[in-house]
Amino acid sequence: MSHMFIPGPVDVDPDVLEAQAQPMMPHRSAEFNDFFRGTEAKLKKVFLTDTRIFQHPSSGTGMQETGVRNLAQKDVLSCVNGAFSERWYQVAVTNGKQADRLDANWGDIIEPDQLAEALKKKPYEIVTIVHNETSTGVENPLKELASVVHEVSPDTLILVDAVSSLGGVKIETDEWGLDFILTSSQKCLALPPGMCFAAVSDRSLKKAETVEGRGWYFDLLRMEKHRIKNSTAMTPTMSLIWALDVQLDKMLAEGLENRYARHQAMAERVQTWALENGMETLAPEGYRSKTVSTIKNLRGVDIAALNKYLLSKGMRIANGYGDLKNKTFRIAHMGETQMHHIDELLDAFETFMEKM
Ligand SMILES: *Cc1c(COP(=O)(O)O)cnc(C)c1O
Repeated sequence: MSHMFIPGPVDVDPDVLEAQAQPMMPHRSAEFNDFFRGTEAKLKKVFLTDTRIFQHPSSGTGMQETGVRNLAQKDVLSCVNGAFSERWYQVAVTNGKQADRLDANWGDIIEPDQLAEALKKKPYEIVTIVHNETSTGVENPLKELASVVHEVSPDTLILVDAVSSLGGVKIETDEWGLDFILTSSQKCLALPPGMCFAAVSDRSLKKAETVEGRGWYFDLLRMEKHRIKNSTAMTPTMSLIWALDVQLDKMLAEGLENRYARHQAMAERVQTWALENGMETLAPEGYRSKTVSTIKNLRGVDIAALNKYLLSKGMRIANGYGDLKNKTFRIAHMGETQMHHIDELLDAFETFMEKM
């Protein structure tokens, strides 16, 4: 077996990789436009939305930039409890927005009450929330956070980064009233890197009409103008779109509910194993990610040596992120990872620890 347990880029199934090898075609052609309409229709099912999906040629961070740049003229509230929510705050600041931070410790969730307090102090145009913090393995209570925004500050748009969870964890885009929700190709969707996707509400597009300095490449209104013609303003990532089509078919064939259940079962398996082996997750119970487990390295495992051993068996895990390096390690269980992969990894991990 050869399998990676790192939280992106994740392993891509061989048939999906092969789909990329199809010949190119003109992107301004009925043939391509039909194909592109098809992938949008399938993506809407995965995003649980009836609105629209942008299929954009940049990594997920480009969609973080699109969100803050198009949907706020000035006032942004950034919920920050890990590396990727910190990045979104930095993206807002470097785009000239007046961004306030709502901080929680790395490893903790953003509390709905804490968000309600912040929203009562100032009328924010948008709030940014990372659903699944890939650095800490914490899943924020998105449904509760969204309902707080609707209650306390109904005009504030809700922007969500679901890069490491969408498709693997149920997120009810329309039902929960999320205005802008983005993901990248290379994590939970199990595609090669290079592309991102976002579901965007009608009121978001209305708001974008009033915002200046939206730029060109990341202008939502330009994206929409082309989307309605089943196209993109610039050359699309054609090979990736061939792969996307095959991968979406696989996801829908497995069934989204089955997919969510598989991710949850793998998370429980890894997290129970950690406890049984004298370790624990950084995240508190009830908020542990279903796609990536960040585990405190309480056994003092040499992560570099462990990975060297795992690599000899064709596997690898991820070290902790930033300051959490060596203090934690991360085991991703997303995309096409199956329970038998997890079993094999944990067996090898135990063998390594016995030899320590
Ligand atoms: C990986 C990741 C990103 C960054 O995505 P890129 O596609 O690398 O730009 C953003 N947010 C989260 C939660 C991530 O895990």
